[in-house]
Amino acid sequence: MGGSLYVHVPLCVRKCAYCDFFSDPAFLPSSRRIADALGSEIRDRSREAGIRSWATVYIGGGTPSLLSPALISTLCATITDSAPLEPDAEWTIEANPEDLSAEWLSACADSGINRLSLGVQSLHDRELSSVGRRGSRKANLEALELASKVWKGRLSLDFIAGLPGQSRESLLESLDAAPAFGADHVSLYSLTLEEGTPLQRLADTGGIPELPEGDSADELWIAGRDFLGELGYAQYEVSNFSLNRCESRHNLVYWNSGEWLAAGPGASGTIRRGSVALRTTGMSDIAQWLSDPVGTSQTEELNERECAEEYLMMGMRLLSGVDRKSFELRFGKDILEVAGKTCSRWQGRGLLEVSPERIRLSAQGLLTLNVFLAECLEEMS
Ligand code: SF4
Repeated sequence: MGGSLYVHVPLCVRKCAYCDFFSDPAFLPSSRRIADALGSEIRDRSREAGIRSWATVYIGGGTPSLLSPALISTLCATITDSAPLEPDAEWTIEANPEDLSAEWLSACADSGINRLSLGVQSLHDRELSSVGRRGSRKANLEALELASKVWKGRLSLDFIAGLPGQSRESLLESLDAAPAFGADHVSLYSLTLEEGTPLQRLADTGGIPELPEGDSADELWIAGRDFLGELGYAQYEVSNFSLNRCESRHNLVYWNSGEWLAAGPGASGTIRRGSVALRTTGMSDIAQWLSDPVGTSQTEELNERECAEEYLMMGMRLLSGVDRKSFELRFGKDILEVAGKTCSRWQGRGLLEVSPERIRLSAQGLLTLNVFLAECLEEMS
């Protein structure tokens, strides 16, 4: 079976107010050095892991669209030199709409990338500027036009529900772009106030008057979810929807607690060893990472209990839930043996389906996934 690879491009023009992904705008002028170091890390890690082919590759960030077409071609050539792509490999790259050009898209397509994930977030200027996004309605629509004309691969669009000043109508109008521009996949995230972000600090001081909170933020996301359903996009994960089962195969590797290599500062990869796992994370400091990408990374061992908890936390994000046999094969126990009381409570409330094969939350149950997981983990402790 082919391997999976995540490549983290730690470049951004500036930080968006809500973002806690690792990136450092100060290193934007060093994009060539970063691309070279990513290439050498990919070569080293794939050789060490004995990768024979790639089944899925995901270039994310940060902002991969800040790499020039020439750097994209070089980076991608390093990936395919390290191991060939499987015939049906899925290869995704993230892009910000305001960076998109026909030349950049051609460099991606010519390199073998077959899935584009565009961070649209909203089609409304006030909503975008309220969280410090560089984009605009005009830039987003131009990028969508361009992608629908020249991009022959698959297309996924990211949106955020709960932006300051967002209404139900404005959210649905943004989401309507997905079918209009041929997207086969949509990610709809709820705006979250991550610890340490400017948005969280501002919210704490009451500095965001139009921020939807509590029930109204939830209602917005639910309105978006239901609208995507009407448009034909089936929910298959907490925040992800697809047309005709065009699910993200790479992200399914994470949700199914699979294995993947990762390259880039702050990026984590996981190798399984039976019921335990090794997690390697790149140094979250670009200067140090550049000095020795592999040597400065940290590896931690996840014990069997941590792996079982993570298996549940990731797998229950899927609408299809967790396969009981796979859990038992990996951890030697049926899920109902370790979290049976929680499962029967949630089943009794009609929020969890338990069959001989799987346990899965209903769409309603998924809205309170964190509560379900907290109860499971408490029972497992
Ligand atoms: S462009 Fe993306 S990665 Fe960069 S700060 Fe904004 S949300 Fe974060």
